Amino acid sequence: MRDQVRCVYCGWTFDRNPRVKNQRYCNNKDCQRARKRLWQKQKLAADPDYKQNQRDCQQLWCIQNRHYWKDYRRHHADYTDRNRKLQKARDSRRRLKKNLAKMDASGPVYSIKQGTYYLIPERKGLAKMDAFAQKVCLIPASYP
Ligand SMILES: [Zn+2]
Repeated sequence: MRDQVRCVYCGWTFDRNPRVKNQRYCNNKDCQRARKRLWQKQKLAADPDYKQNQRDCQQLWCIQNRHYWKDYRRHHADYTDRNRKLQKARDSRRRLKKNLAKMDASGPVYSIKQGTYYLIPERKGLAKMDAFAQKVCLIPASYP
């Protein structure tokens, strides 16, 4: 008779390996990876020696592979471009927040408040037209 169990990661049923005690993950590569990730997360939280050892190994690897990230970025232009764009967006959001905080101190009065608005075309009747939610962010005039 087959001893089947449901994988806790992917949800598929699989034949339990009689040699593996309390088997909860199937043989799928992603499921095994998830199992290992969880194991390591728990091990790092529970075992300070293991955590220190992992840190030492990573530091050693970084020293031995000093040019890894430089080479990686050179050979993966799409990765670099994406990062640059995301960083630019983060920078401008941070700058905007900072400017808004400065403005708050002097107390300007906005006639439009930041938030989500529904843009409704003017000509159609209110009953049957589609409204699309649009986020409205205030950009100060001093923003570059
Ligand atoms: Zn699975």
